[in-house]
Amino acid sequence: MTHPRIEILPPAAAERIAAGEVVERPASVVKELMENSLDAGARRISVEIEGAGSRLIRVSDDGSGIPRDELAVAFARFATSKIRSAEDLRRVQTYGFRGEALPSIAAVARVTVVTRPASADTAASLTVAGGVGQAVVAAGAAEGTTVTVEDLFYNTPARQRFLKSPAREAAVVVETVQALALAAPSVAVRLQDGGREVLWIPPESFGERARRTLGPPFAGRTLDIDARGPTSITGALGMPQMAQARRNHQWWLVNGRPVRSPMLARALDQAYHTLIPDGRVPAAVLHVRVPQEALDVNIHPRKTEVRFADERAVFNDLVREVRKVLHAAALVHTVAEPRYGPVAERRNAVAEPPGPYGARTDQHAGGATVPLWASPGSASTWPTIHVLGQLALTYIVGESGGDLVLIDQHAAHERVLYEHLLARRRAGGVQAQGLVTPAVVELSTAEEQLLSELGPALERLGFEVQPFGRAGVRLTAIPAMAVGRDAAALFRACLADLAADRFDHAGRDLEERLAIATACHTAVRAGDRLDAAKMAGLLDELARAHDPYSCFHGRPTMVRVPSRELERWFYRRV
Ligand code: ADP
Ligand code: MG
Repeated sequence: MTHPRIEILPPAAAERIAAGEVVERPASVVKELMENSLDAGARRISVEIEGAGSRLIRVSDDGSGIPRDELAVAFARFATSKIRSAEDLRRVQTYGFRGEALPSIAAVARVTVVTRPASADTAASLTVAGGVGQAVVAAGAAEGTTVTVEDLFYNTPARQRFLKSPAREAAVVVETVQALALAAPSVAVRLQDGGREVLWIPPESFGERARRTLGPPFAGRTLDIDARGPTSITGALGMPQMAQARRNHQWWLVNGRPVRSPMLARALDQAYHTLIPDGRVPAAVLHVRVPQEALDVNIHPRKTEVRFADERAVFNDLVREVRKVLHAAALVHTVAEPRYGPVAERRNAVAEPPGPYGARTDQHAGGATVPLWASPGSASTWPTIHVLGQLALTYIVGESGGDLVLIDQHAAHERVLYEHLLARRRAGGVQAQGLVTPAVVELSTAEEQLLSELGPALERLGFEVQPFGRAGVRLTAIPAMAVGRDAAALFRACLADLAADRFDHAGRDLEERLAIATACHTAVRAGDRLDAAKMAGLLDELARAHDPYSCFHGRPTMVRVPSRELERWFYRRV
């Protein structure tokens, strides 16, 4: 790789660079130096830290090196070999382009660069401390560049005080290295902390690196996504049962850059909507690519945020493509001991243990590329179940291919009714059943307010009400599917649900929440006795649902105990 000359940006370009602090913690230094190594075409990058990076950070690469006569200028502000003008800002392909990293780091630490381009016989070395450089001297070194940063923030005690605990700072370094390694899967990356090897990652495919980044607990519990539209989306999606309490199992790349994007995170949440419980978030490694001109990368000094020209389109594409993959997969919750696959056997990142919700595994859908969804419904992945009976008036017990399956009758029926309601609503309205004796329901002021907000949504979902008296309504029809339930009680319960979670609607509109409440209070309950025909009918309907594997609260409808697991229980197999 040839190295364009390092030059100082003209003022017109320098002015357009998003201003702000680049170096706020050890991980920022690691990020800037690794990005420089990647920009220099490195095939191997080694990162060492001591004292959580405060004592020492050393990044070595086998990249292009810096010509001796350009070494000093590299430490000048806005000195870069990557862009020449403000115009170039719109088509940057490199991680760096601001020419600010080396001078910013050298202002708050002692920095030594030892570098040797392929064309040079010897390496050159330069040390800069507190912004003041020494003379460039000859040194012996292999081709490439090693940057050593010592005593970070030694001259800015205020900065030092803002650092978190050494353990936390070191953890952020690990995350940073992992994020950049993800961006460059063909590059070998190694990280040592106080001489101890923390990461050792060989060159591999993006898919492999994505799964490695999620860590061993996810082995066999991810789905591949590979959508090539105007927005290309590739990577690995955690199965719903691997949903997490925190977002630290979400990794995003946008056009090759590790970024944070609340918009993308929200889109992912929406895609998993009703498949995981509220308050949990999906795990995922996703690379989102849009045409370069549809993206602004120069909005943030540390370049960890980007701006899309058309946010809406990217949001919608992401929701749609992730949903396709989820719909096409068998999202079965399986009870079995975790068995780590090949991913786990490699030396891997320090992965946090999965949450309690992630303590199960599934061998049926692991890591395979799932074809794009072809037909509505999930009949292709929902298994054939032979009903054996009812357990505790709560679960349907069945057999499927020699495995034991348990179906939560309430969760299953909720899912069926909910999808029925939403489908009918779209198709012009839910079938209503007139009441022979209309029920009069008194309303509180809050409930009256709710009713007026619901407006026509009420009728679309099969409820017909007329004003009655001073503070009440006459209920003249309810959704046909609810016939047999106490109409007034059902209506009251629905309104109570809506009123209760008024301020906690997880992005759902009022109409959807009414559909949820209606389905919830209409569905068979735990304690309802079901005969064989009812159970078979329910499973039939569930098999035709879009998302048969969970109710809309994100609870599983079915849990599967593989026959191999049963054999283990009875010591037939070890
Ligand atoms: P930027 O990356 O924005 O150009 P930096 O301050 O990070 O600015 O680096 C200044 C210049 O030094 C880079 O443009 C590049 O030419 C050179 N450089 C820095 N690190 C390396 C490296 N590891 N290998 C080769 N060249 C490097
Ligand atoms: Mg740089």
